[in-house]
Amino acid sequence: MAKPFASSADLEEKRQTLEVLADGVYALTAEGDPNIGAIEGEDFLVCFEALATPAAARTWLARLREHTGKPVRYLVLSHYHAVRVLGASAFEADVILTHEKTRELIAERGEADWASEYGRMPRLFAEPESIPGLTWPTATFAERFTIDLGGDRGDLVLQYCGRGHTEGDIVAWLPRHRVLFTGDLVEAEAALYTGDAFHHDWATATLDRVAAFGAEALVGGRGAVAKGREACDAAIAQTRGFLDVMRQEVGFVHGRGGPLKEAFEAAHAALAPKFGQWPIFEHCLPFDVARLWEEYSGVERPTVWTAERDREVWAQLQD
Ligand SMILES: [Zn+2]
Repeated sequence: MAKPFASSADLEEKRQTLEVLADGVYALTAEGDPNIGAIEGEDFLVCFEALATPAAARTWLARLREHTGKPVRYLVLSHYHAVRVLGASAFEADVILTHEKTRELIAERGEADWASEYGRMPRLFAEPESIPGLTWPTATFAERFTIDLGGDRGDLVLQYCGRGHTEGDIVAWLPRHRVLFTGDLVEAEAALYTGDAFHHDWATATLDRVAAFGAEALVGGRGAVAKGREACDAAIAQTRGFLDVMRQEVGFVHGRGGPLKEAFEAAHAALAPKFGQWPIFEHCLPFDVARLWEEYSGVERPTVWTAERDREVWAQLQD
């Protein structure tokens, strides 16, 4: 029997958990659905990620408002993917902040990505008609952007670590509490989506830079919060492990001139024992392998995913 397309048959609501990681530091996790966060400044809030729709974001904000009523000065978006950014209008933020590449990617492929992600993960798009349009950053940076949180709260450091999950991912680092929000650069017991990725950069220098923070709590893109140095290192190692297995398996088939389908089957067989039961594994892998195949074929930048291309690749590999 054909597998249902991507996550189109995943309709069961996930349970959301709000955790206070330190004074004024919040994370909302949701059993493998996209994670989000917030950091209190002395008289303002920084929110990290915006979810897929304003309606979905308002549910999160209602929970956050049980803890703090401060206005949102900054909405930080770790990268351009629709399920992270299209809820932005609900935050009424003074500043929407991304990496400069993210703005370019939204201009180049934001519309296509919206249609693609809606088709792949319709459940995440609560009240899709509440989306007013693409989300545009109002400020961008290239390497590092520091927000003084005021009082004795220290800084929040936004840092680009190199190409990875996309061309423009950033992380948010709270040195005072040693808490790191990584976006989709690290997943904790959730499969990786690498359809827009730069696998080789990600698995090497970029994850090295992420690891170098020495975080003691890590909020990944999906999955539970990692707590303690050991758990943080394990989440990073597990992300790198997923990438390394893919690079090895797909690289081997590509190198001997085999077909894409065989590379997909080899990667699936190698990853399934460890990662097969994790959220979105079956959903992601065809898109992941298709992108990595491009990299091995010398295609520098990921081909834009459209709703049509999604279905073609799915039919080629997963049916
Ligand atoms: Zn993403």
